[in-house]
Amino acid sequence: MRYSDQRKRLVQELVEAGITDQNVLKAFEIVPRELFVLPEYVSYAYRNQPLPIDSNQTISQPLMIAIMLEKLRLNRDDIVMEIGTGSGYQTALLSNLAKEVCSIERIDILSLKARKVIDKLGYTNVFYKIGDGAAGWQKAFPPYSEFPKIIVSAAADKVPSMLIKQLSDPGILVVPVGGSNIQQLIVVEKSNSEVKESVHGGCSFVPLISESE
Ligand code: SAH
Repeated sequence: MRYSDQRKRLVQELVEAGITDQNVLKAFEIVPRELFVLPEYVSYAYRNQPLPIDSNQTISQPLMIAIMLEKLRLNRDDIVMEIGTGSGYQTALLSNLAKEVCSIERIDILSLKARKVIDKLGYTNVFYKIGDGAAGWQKAFPPYSEFPKIIVSAAADKVPSMLIKQLSDPGILVVPVGGSNIQQLIVVEKSNSEVKESVHGGCSFVPLISESE
């Protein structure tokens, strides 16, 4: 089956699993996941499952990404901070949904490889940082100190305080929090100077490796 048909089938699966955000579904129909997986896994690219990538990391499960993107309630004016570039697949989805994406990855070869694929696809609204994402963006360019939307794709043992600090008011932060095998998806919403957390079911991510508190 052609990749474009496989993509349509994956989108149908996401719809059946309860994803309703039309912009999110559209992004999944556009981004070629086969370019972000290892060559030996291209025939599995459109299965709704995580797959191994370099450096013992994983490309996230499409449904899990879709759930997180939906929770972010993205609009075209949003500047998004993403922690855990990984393969760059979710970065490319975000690139279709937001104004700019500032993506942080601690493993340099992953960041560089992701960037190559994303550049080849022609996206120009993504900025990359190699380093500890739990410390936030802290980069001269683009010079943002606050983000209306933040998404973390690795499991933290608690919500990183620097990310709450760098969340705009109003703003939404989505982060898996918990132990090494299973975590809960936490949505942090900031509005009128108040910070509220809600819990949204189980998930399973590779750990966020951080020196920051
Ligand atoms: N959304 C990505 C997920 C990659 S897995 C994808 O679908 O490809 C999570 C990534 O988070 C890994 O690449 C890992 O190296 C990275 N990571 C872990 N701790 C990190 C940290 N403190 N800062 C930045 N990236 C981190």
